[in-house]
Amino acid sequence: MTLSMAGRQTFDICVIGAGSGGLSVAAGASQLGARTALIERHKMGGDCLNVGCVPSKSLLAAAKAAADVARSRRFGIFDGRGKVDFGAVNAHVKGVIAGIAPHDSAARFEGLGVSVIKGSARFLGPDEVEVGDQAIRARRFVIATGSIPAIPPIPGLEPLPYFTNETIFDNAQRPEHLLVIGAGPVGLELAQAHRRLGSGVTVLEVALPLAGADPELAAVVWEALRREDIDIRAGVTIAGIEKDGARIIVRFAANGASTIVQGSHLLIAAGRKPAIEGLGLDAAGVVYTAKGITVNARLRTSNRRIYAIGDVAGLGQFTHLAAHHAGVVLRNALFRLPARADRAPVPRVTFTDPELAEVGLNEDQARAKAGRIRILRSALAENDRARTERETDGLVKIVTAANGRILGAGIVGKNAGELIQPWILAIAQGLRISAMAALVLPYPTLGEAGKRAASGFFAPKLFNPRTRKLVRFLAHFG
Ligand SMILES: Cc1cc2nc3c(=O)[nH]c(=O)nc-3n(C[C@H](O)[C@H](O)[C@H](O)COP(=O)(O)OP(=O)(O)OC[C@H]3O[C@@H](n4cnc5c(N)ncnc54)[C@H](O)[C@@H]3O)c2cc1C
Repeated sequence: MTLSMAGRQTFDICVIGAGSGGLSVAAGASQLGARTALIERHKMGGDCLNVGCVPSKSLLAAAKAAADVARSRRFGIFDGRGKVDFGAVNAHVKGVIAGIAPHDSAARFEGLGVSVIKGSARFLGPDEVEVGDQAIRARRFVIATGSIPAIPPIPGLEPLPYFTNETIFDNAQRPEHLLVIGAGPVGLELAQAHRRLGSGVTVLEVALPLAGADPELAAVVWEALRREDIDIRAGVTIAGIEKDGARIIVRFAANGASTIVQGSHLLIAAGRKPAIEGLGLDAAGVVYTAKGITVNARLRTSNRRIYAIGDVAGLGQFTHLAAHHAGVVLRNALFRLPARADRAPVPRVTFTDPELAEVGLNEDQARAKAGRIRILRSALAENDRARTERETDGLVKIVTAANGRILGAGIVGKNAGELIQPWILAIAQGLRISAMAALVLPYPTLGEAGKRAASGFFAPKLFNPRTRKLVRFLAHFG
């Protein structure tokens, strides 16, 4: 395609994708005085706002409200009826998105001085992209195109109707029985939300549920989900999917036997792949693999003018990681500082109930890396606040080096995503466990479980016969 000079614009920085990562770069760059373009082909706000974090957490909040009504008997409250209006729940989800949308809107970004361009970007060469009939040149490009659902090659799947995260939040009618393929964070969060809102739910997983997490902590989540009558089948090999009238039938093998499950609706939550198709990366000289665009620690691609951040860089799929990447790119691209993306500990949270939050190394990773380690645990069943709330499912698990340096923390239980935060700080600052054990925390709070785990580091040294002897000896001095 030949482009007239009139259709060509030049910027200091051109960001492709207006999701969690791209918006942060564009806002920062423009406010720092760089001439900034932001190209978005679909909705401002990207996956997190429209089809990811925000709708999934809104749906889970509604589901928790329903579960709280059903569970109110344990507090002696018997009046709960808990009728769920699925359409009204969907309206709540849409309402939350609509409330946040202005913050990510083209109008707000244009107000910040960003040139927002609607359309699909494709590289024409190493320093130029086209969007419709416009050509954009820039000193630096940032690819922040995110990821899309990976659809597994299951025989019979393709002609059937199925949900992904891109469509399920538009559904305003309760599925009678939802079949979920994939027991990662997305699959399990949506499984629990639907179960609590009245659907039957079956989850099929080729490996283990929440396979990336510490197995001891993950097991607490899936046991809790099983108690809510979510049928989780792990280690399965799916042979095929077919439709029989209104029923969807999945054929699979597990433990050497072939079997089927049936449902009314299907959700594919089998992982995500980088959104790189049609970007013209070869024309730009940008190297990539099936995992994502290859970047160095400063998030530079093989073309030094071009950075890649967030999900498309294949380093993790979290909004806070994309935002962290944005800060690293701003420091590198605008201030020419050698900032690296791999220095900060990045927390990982699954927002099921109980929540599962981790940061740093888990037990297996630490054993492989650090050799001699200590594992400290504290069960929520021993925490007074958890008992008052009747939320005793879960534990705090801390991994330290032999000298007490904190290597990792994992929490499964109510509000784990909040409770992990002091541990993120501790790891970021290279603190030792004594710092956490010495904190004076308010009573009664769930956070005390973390302090209790930390104190466990010193228990073998403190409460032994030698210390007792010393205390008795010192008592002689009045
Ligand atoms: C159901 C679900 C729940 C989630 N929950 C959480 C959570 O609780 N916490 C959390 O931290 N993370 C969560 N995530 C992950 C989080 O949404 C992503 O990690 C985050 O959105 C990644 O940000 P990004 O900027 O890399 O990409 P995105 O937010 O996906 O933005 C990419 C944007 O680029 C646009 N784009 C793509 N290609 C082009 C092109 N060629 N031209 C122009 N525009 C283009 C897309 O339309 C999109 O708007 C969840 C994800 C899902 C699916």
